[in-house]
Amino acid sequence: MKMKRRLFVPVVSSLGLAAGKSRGVYADLGIRPILNFQGPVTTVGASKMWPEIQGIMAEAAREFAVLEEVKDAVGERLAKLCGTESALVTSGTAGAIALGTYGCLTGTDTAKVRRLPDLTGMKTEVVIQKPHRNGYDHAVRSAGVRIVEVDSRESFINSLGPQTAMIYYLGGTRGDWAWETPVPLAECVAIAKKAGVPVLIDAANLLPSWDSIPRVAATGVDMIAFSGGKHIRGPQSAGVLAGRKDLLHAAWLNSSPHSDSQGRGMKVNKEEMIGLLAAIERYSKLDFAALDREYERQAAYVMAELRKVGLQVEKARFERGRKVHRVIATWDEGGRGLTAAAVEKTLRDGEPRIAALRGPEGKGIEFTFLMNDPGEEKIVARRMREIFA
Ligand SMILES: *Cc1c(COP(=O)(O)O)cnc(C)c1O
Repeated sequence: MKMKRRLFVPVVSSLGLAAGKSRGVYADLGIRPILNFQGPVTTVGASKMWPEIQGIMAEAAREFAVLEEVKDAVGERLAKLCGTESALVTSGTAGAIALGTYGCLTGTDTAKVRRLPDLTGMKTEVVIQKPHRNGYDHAVRSAGVRIVEVDSRESFINSLGPQTAMIYYLGGTRGDWAWETPVPLAECVAIAKKAGVPVLIDAANLLPSWDSIPRVAATGVDMIAFSGGKHIRGPQSAGVLAGRKDLLHAAWLNSSPHSDSQGRGMKVNKEEMIGLLAAIERYSKLDFAALDREYERQAAYVMAELRKVGLQVEKARFERGRKVHRVIATWDEGGRGLTAAAVEKTLRDGEPRIAALRGPEGKGIEFTFLMNDPGEEKIVARRMREIFA
């Protein structure tokens, strides 16, 4: 490659973007994009930003601005929407959980911020109910704390002491709000308040719809973490930590742009802050009933088409108190000489590429209708008819 250093030569020309030679950013890289019937799954990009959000982010990228001023202005608007004192755009739910935990440990003591994950002079434990343990609690553990797992109301109460920095609560894992958990949210918050321990709820599972966020805030929980890049359809790498002003300020001190902080690597720039605010303003006003009808229509179409080629189809039960339309297609894999794995792969490698999940226990294929443009249901039905014809 010739490396003549001339300013203002667009380096993107290697992608064919300059001079209108591009066949598309993905095609230029030899990548075929994929239709997503998996729902908001990170491995395929998780979220397709609304077109107007793309424009807003591009505009925000054109100029410099003082990051802290953008953070404050965006945070104020977000907090109003969430029903909390304060809010911070983070690097996804996982980033929000991490920063929330760091903030509980350090408070606004900048010496402690610099010391993390060495916990000298800080509390050392985070309490989690056993059914709330999940891979994302690695974000809690990244603070260097010890997780105290509890499995009853009694052990929960007994676990809280002078060493307890925080309680992590996983929202709505099963059923609706009163899902089977030793200590449901309202009670957890009440007990924690008495003990003076903040509660952080991972609310990533509680959307749609937007109502869930102010509803969670009204329980008096101290911090709420959720994703901006799943069905909110904002920037995929962004999320929100909303809640108490003092804790949010402490969380901010533990993140970028503060160089000597544990969260420095969880950087969020002004474009993501502004893009996510715009996406949430849009999302909070969405007509969820109309959206629900559209996804139900797409699901019903696919079900009818798959029945025509002899597949058994059923709707998966709504879970986590939210309406997400999922269609599970099964067939006699031996009889038809087609395994679910083979169909999954054929869909993934076909034209266009389609990402779908395997059904429960690996049987059949599950299609999720959550961010799909009208017409995509026809494509997936056609591909399945071709495979099973
Ligand atoms: C998706 C998810 C996360 C991680 O969210 P990101 O925005 O990708 O960081 C955390 N917790 C739960 C329950 C999730 O579903």
